[in-house]
Amino acid sequence: MSRNIALRLTGVHRSYGQGDSVLHILNNAEFELRSGEIVALVAPSGTGKSTLLHLAGLLEHPDEGEVYVDGLPCGTLADDKRTAIRRSDIGFVYQFHHLLPEFTALENIMMPQLIAGLPDKEARRRAAQLLDYMRIGHRADHRPAELSGGEQQRVAIARAVANAPLLLLADEPTGNLDPETAHYVFEALEALVRQSGLAALIATHNHDLAARMDRRVTISEGKIVSF
Ligand code: ADP
Ligand code: MG
Repeated sequence: MSRNIALRLTGVHRSYGQGDSVLHILNNAEFELRSGEIVALVAPSGTGKSTLLHLAGLLEHPDEGEVYVDGLPCGTLADDKRTAIRRSDIGFVYQFHHLLPEFTALENIMMPQLIAGLPDKEARRRAAQLLDYMRIGHRADHRPAELSGGEQQRVAIARAVANAPLLLLADEPTGNLDPETAHYVFEALEALVRQSGLAALIATHNHDLAARMDRRVTISEGKIVSF
């Protein structure tokens, strides 16, 4: 398995103005995530987990510093390039599934592949394969509202990896689930990551799940530190 550095942050600063004061969320933050690695991001609410994931996912720009995806510095790239990298190399999973309500589970997973230009038949085949892999093949024709919370998140994870990204970013993906369901969803996610060799950074408040990942980091005084 290759051990490329899928994600690298160097000297990243990010602050928000709040009234007269400035909130320094990330302050000279450094971080590296290698292919095949699953890292837990565990920190209290309001410390900057989502901010970090959005910067890593090229959804936001750092005030200073650089974000490298697969070795490519992305900070100064034009927006269309960043979008292209986001679509091909990065999968994002949110706490709430963000699936398209009008479409079936299968269609939701096909969508990013169709946008990437894959033929319908191939997208359908891969979507069905991913649903089977997540053990919800029997739910392929259901719309999100007809799925349980755990099933919705498994579809969201399948959609995030549909285009075989090299980086999976998940923002409290099991935060809305009961502990047992969270366990099964994480197990499916872990199997997928292990099998595909992608790199994953997963924000979670669940210490049991965090304990099962390869490394654990937190945000402390604007830095990303292991614990
Ligand atoms: P977490 O995901 O760990 O709960 P966030 O990254 O969402 O934390 O937010 C970190 C801090 O930055 C919080 O105090 C939040 O209020 C603040 N913040 C986040 N986004 C903005 C924004 N767009 N404008 C101002 N403050 C923000
Ligand atoms: Mg958050």
